[in-house]
Amino acid sequence: MGSEVWNVLVTGGAGYIGSHTVLELLEAGFQVVVIDNLINAYKDLNSEKPKCLLIVEKLTNKNVTFIDCDITNINDLRDVFQKHTFSCVIHFAALKAVGESCQKPLEYYKVNVAGTVNILEVMRENNVKHFIYSSSATVYGIPEQLPLVEDMKTGNCTNPYGKTKFMVEEILKDLCKSDDEFSVISLRYFNPVGAHSSGQIGEDPNGIPNNLMPYIAQVSVGKRDMLYIYGNDYDTPDGTGVRDYIHIVDLAIGHVKAMTYQKTCNPMGFKAINLGTGKGYSVLEVIRAYEKASGKKIPYKIVERRPGDISASYADASVANKELGWTTTKNLDDMCADTWKWQQNNPNGYKN
Ligand code: NAD
Ligand code: UDP
Repeated sequence: MGSEVWNVLVTGGAGYIGSHTVLELLEAGFQVVVIDNLINAYKDLNSEKPKCLLIVEKLTNKNVTFIDCDITNINDLRDVFQKHTFSCVIHFAALKAVGESCQKPLEYYKVNVAGTVNILEVMRENNVKHFIYSSSATVYGIPEQLPLVEDMKTGNCTNPYGKTKFMVEEILKDLCKSDDEFSVISLRYFNPVGAHSSGQIGEDPNGIPNNLMPYIAQVSVGKRDMLYIYGNDYDTPDGTGVRDYIHIVDLAIGHVKAMTYQKTCNPMGFKAINLGTGKGYSVLEVIRAYEKASGKKIPYKIVERRPGDISASYADASVANKELGWTTTKNLDDMCADTWKWQQNNPNGYKN
């Protein structure tokens, strides 16, 4: 199994993390089929493929197969598995806006939980036994202790989005208990930010960004007047929230390492692995780093705390280091420089 070329199904591969991961998988020699229903991705008007994947093909000089498919439709998934043979599935497709998940919980449970069960069912029908899951630090809920370690308690989540990530992890644990040939790596991402160093692919949020870095990026190109900082009375060194920001390319490479690990190891059941740098930065520190990288002033105003926010979160990343041989190579300055490059080149994202 170690030397054959793996054909990988990437769900949600037209999204922010998916597109960067597809690029790294192609560079590492994997063959890739992407499925995505493009609900949060931009379709090129002159092609059947999403724009980000056309750019990925250009950057890598390799081909990606793209299929427009909704994971909530199990028969469409069956068609995909009938036309292609896969060794592994990397599952990104999901809805991801925390606020929206409180307004539309059923949509979130349908796509994130039922959609995932559909994929697992079709994998079982086709005897595909390797699964890499996009989980999140949010599964730890309100941290009892920092840094966050994989064997800490999970599940005290404050919103439906977080609960879907926790529920899927529980489903995956049960599935692994029922089938000792099944291998799952659940990658618990901390805060992915930044863009590919080419400045040609990056994060392209719809409407007002929910997350800090894309919001700052839009302020830096004049699309928004100022950043609103959600609270400066947290129990952190400067009172603003602290997070473990991780460069998107480091995160993408984490998936390649996880796949390579699955390819070379015997079935190992369910394994959760944090992908973070292990270091937390405050909102004010991120603003300062971005100002340095861009030469732009980021005006801000302190406002009320955002409901559901925690004061601080950062990873213990030693399991990824020991088990996957993975470590981050890019720091906060790189994250800001690459975000700025992408935003400056593409002030309107892929719609340029
Ligand atoms: P994204 O929205 O950019 O990508 C998700 C992709 O899934 C999009 O291209 C979207 O069109 C597609 N999709 C959504 N519903 C679908 C459906 N029913 N069928 C087929 N495709 C569908 O999000 P992202 O930031 O790239 O996140 C990828 C994964 O990582 C998600 O599972 C998310 O929950 C998880 N995650 C993201 C973050 C983050 O900060 N970005 C942090 C932790 C975990
Ligand atoms: N944040 C902020 N203003 C914004 C967006 C985020 O002050 O417009 C803060 C937020 O309160 C948190 C940090 O930035 O302390 C990271 O927030 P983000 O939404 O990016 O990630 P998450 O909270 O999901 O970890």
